[in-house]
This record gives sequence, C-alpha cells and structure tokens, in this order.
Amino acid sequence: MTVYQRSISASIDPVKLDRLAELATKVGLQLKAGQDLLVTAPTAALPLVRKVAEHAYRVGAGLVTPILSDETVTLARYRYAPDDGFDRAAGWLYDGMSKAFAANTARLAIVGDNPMLLAGENPIKVARASKANSVAYQPALEKIVNFDINWNIIAYPSLSWAKQVFPEDEEDVAVAKLADAIFAASRVDNDDPIAAWEKHNATLRNRTEWLNGQRFSALHYFGPGMDLTIGLAEGHEWVGGASTAKNGITCNPNIPTEEVFTTPHARRVSGHVVSTKPLSYQGSLIDGIAVRFEEGCIVAAKAARGEEVLNKVLDTDEGARRLGEVALVPHSSPISKSGLLFFNTLFDENAACHIALGQCYSKCFVDGAKLTPEQIAAQGGNKSLIHIDWMIGSDQTDIDGIHADGRRVPVFRKGEWA
Ligand code: ZN
Ligand code: ZN
Repeated sequence: MTVYQRSISASIDPVKLDRLAELATKVGLQLKAGQDLLVTAPTAALPLVRKVAEHAYRVGAGLVTPILSDETVTLARYRYAPDDGFDRAAGWLYDGMSKAFAANTARLAIVGDNPMLLAGENPIKVARASKANSVAYQPALEKIVNFDINWNIIAYPSLSWAKQVFPEDEEDVAVAKLADAIFAASRVDNDDPIAAWEKHNATLRNRTEWLNGQRFSALHYFGPGMDLTIGLAEGHEWVGGASTAKNGITCNPNIPTEEVFTTPHARRVSGHVVSTKPLSYQGSLIDGIAVRFEEGCIVAAKAARGEEVLNKVLDTDEGARRLGEVALVPHSSPISKSGLLFFNTLFDENAACHIALGQCYSKCFVDGAKLTPEQIAAQGGNKSLIHIDWMIGSDQTDIDGIHADGRRVPVFRKGEWA
C-alpha cells in the first residue's frame, strides 16, 4: 500500500469498517467453527479483507483464502492482449471454487470495483470476455444459486467507485461519503448492528409470510411506461432477508438487502416495461431500457444508452430473454431515500422494485432443495448463464396480486406496500 492509498483509506471510519467485517462473519455468513472461507475482493478492499480474516479466525474458521482482482491488471488485458485471448476464462480457478463449495467452504464476495471500468473499451471484446467468464463460472455459480453453502456479499468504498458516485468531490471526501452510505445501508452505523439485523430480518419475514399465504398466480404492474403481467412459477416461494442454505446454515446473502423476491413463470410474462434506473453491467452502463414480453420472452428491446451491450446480453442463451426473479422493494427503503445512484446492483436493486433476466433461484420454490432441474423447469423456473437485475419501480408503481380465479388484491400503491 502506498502512502497515497493509506491517506485515502484513512477517510473510512475504522470502527464501522471493523463492525462490517464482524457483521459479514456472524450474520452475513454465520460462519461455523471449522468451516473454510473463500473471499473474493478487489485489491483496494484489502483493509476489509484483513478485518474479515481476523473475525473469521476468531469464530474458529478453518482456512481463509482470499482471491484478489485488480483494475489495472484488468485494463492491461484490453490494452495489450491479443484479440484471440478474449474467449478465455480461468476455468481452472472456478473448478477449484466449485470443489471448495462442494467441501462446504463458505463464500464471501466483497464488491468495490469501479463500475465504469470497461466503459471505454471495445464492447465486442467486453461481451466475449464476459460470456467466456459466465460459461467458466457456471459450475461454481450453480452451487451459489442453488444455495448449497452459506454465502454473503458486502461492499468496500474503493476510490475508483467513490469517484463515480461523487464526481464533484475531492477524492478523500468522495471515499468518506461512499463509506458513510455503505455503512448506513448495511446498518453498521449503530452500536449493535447484529440486533438491528435481527429486527430487519423479522420485518422481511412478515412480508414473505403474507405473500406466501396469498399464493398469487400473477402480479400486474401498472404505472407510467408500464403495463406488465408477471405470472408466478408453480410452487413459488417468496424469500427475503435471512434464509437457510442446503448445508443447514442460516445466513444473510446480501448486505444490504431490502427486497422480498420469488420466481416468475418463464413462459407467462406479457406486456411492456421501462427501466427506472441505469443498470451497471460489467463495466458498462445500460440506461433507458424498454422491452416487450410475449409468452415470457422479450420480443423487442431498446436502450437509450448501451443498447449494443444489452442486445449481446439478451443473445447469451435461450433463457437470457426470460425472467428468473421478481422482487418487491418499497420506494421508501433507506437506499432509495439516500437518493444516490451507486452504479452497483447490490445497492441499487434495494432502491426499487426489480426483475432479473436469466437464471432463477431454486430456493424460491416450496421445497426447492428437493426439486430436480427438470422439475424446476416444468414449474416455470428459468435457466440461463446470466442473472441480471434491473429496476422497474418508482414512486408511481402500482401492483396488484391476481389469484387463480381472477380476484385482485392491492400489493403496492404509489411505490409502497398497500
Ligand atoms: Zn433481487
Ligand atoms: Zn437478482
């Protein structure tokens, strides 16, 4: 670490950073004594990686293994690598991750990369590299989306990210502001974050219990720019906040989180919708998305910005044009109230109702752990290499739940729980 980096990270409150590491270990992961931990993080997040290692070993972790990525190394590839190298990915690394997860290793992902890192690079190369990476990552990602092990994502306020969120500010001020926003959204800005998360998880559980009691057949979204009916998968289950992985450990996969979500029916979505916030996808910004669905499939897609990247994404595979997640988030969520655009899905998806293209979560089915991939597909679950959340909610969003007999129940009015 250079003197310069040290002065920038000095603008991050060390007490709250330590609390975030402790929260990730004890609530996010619920790491068990003897369990190994795999941590992925950008090099800028090393101060947090080190704190996590300390808390993980204090609760009895077996072995903590960090895997770091670096923005300068990533950019070097786009500047200097031969063209035919862009279809390569570190499959051996993901195979190793997959083996680790099969052996009950927990997974912590620390995000903090510059969301616009690849914005100036050749979009064809970005798409090729991203597809190769998605294919190679599949064996490891499957164990995450199938919830085989306890996992958690948290964020670190790196300088390059802070400069995107607060472009007008001096660097140290931008980092301090992003740090405060992350700490507030992650509920570590109070003396007892663990108690705060118990309360928050209970609130989310009340919502999911109500929705699971209703057993809606579909949700109808209406408001400015949208008239969209999303059929829900047969045997779908709403989840949110803490949930229990197949290894029996109850963890909080996302910190922060405000959403409750379930599996839409991949073949029963119709109507049109526009995005209400920009989507930052692997270093590119896609904004002003407008799509039309027929029988679950996107048949027309436009974007005011990043349309080329969007179309590449939609062409990834058959399931990339269909939905794998539908999530409800009130407009008054703390992240929405912050008024900030984080350019990062972990935060921005918690500011608005959203849908995700691509792979569904098997945990969003009743007894999902026992279903085969064929059964999940038959019940309407989607399969794809991608899973991309994008925001469709605003303070104008109205949503009705529709029962199988056609009866309607208000779920959201003007962006809030009805
Ligand atoms: Zn979501
Ligand atoms: Zn999602």
